[in-house]
Amino acid sequence: MLTRRRLASLAACAAAASVPGLARAAAPRAERLIWAVNPAGEELAVVYRNGNAYDPMAMARLQLLFRDVHRNVVGPLPPLLVDILSVLQERWGYERPLVITSGYRTPQTNAAIEGAAPASLHLRGLAADVSLRGIPLTDFANAALWLSGRLGFMGIGLYRRFLHLDIGPQRSWTRLGL
Ligand SMILES: [Zn+2]
Repeated sequence: MLTRRRLASLAACAAAASVPGLARAAAPRAERLIWAVNPAGEELAVVYRNGNAYDPMAMARLQLLFRDVHRNVVGPLPPLLVDILSVLQERWGYERPLVITSGYRTPQTNAAIEGAAPASLHLRGLAADVSLRGIPLTDFANAALWLSGRLGFMGIGLYRRFLHLDIGPQRSWTRLGL
């Protein structure tokens, strides 16, 4: 896939930057990691990819982390979404966890959320509402806009407490009232 290849090459450029302990041990340039905490307080830091190979065990654990915690339902989690989150996190040296406000959503959970789009990409696991602990959301949003400019896709929504990120068509919006 073209988009994934472009992302991989971007990631390779950034990989020379500081990647702490975990990835440095063996083959640091080829490994990608992600560190995130979900709304239930569950935390996971994991190497989920080595070169172009995604680790199925790590991906399954991430799928669980990004589940609908209100209904306790695990949904799809595309590797491309994980790559985007990982690349953004890497810009701050993997020193801060991604805080997930909302990952996959069941239709019931989506309907209960104020301002949620009825056909939200969260329903298909293509979106995540996240922040990076201790980093101003506007800085995080600017990094996402930069990445989207390079990739030619991604939806980016700036809200008061989180950034909505999805792997759909390129668009961006601000809803600081919600
Ligand atoms: Zn969202």
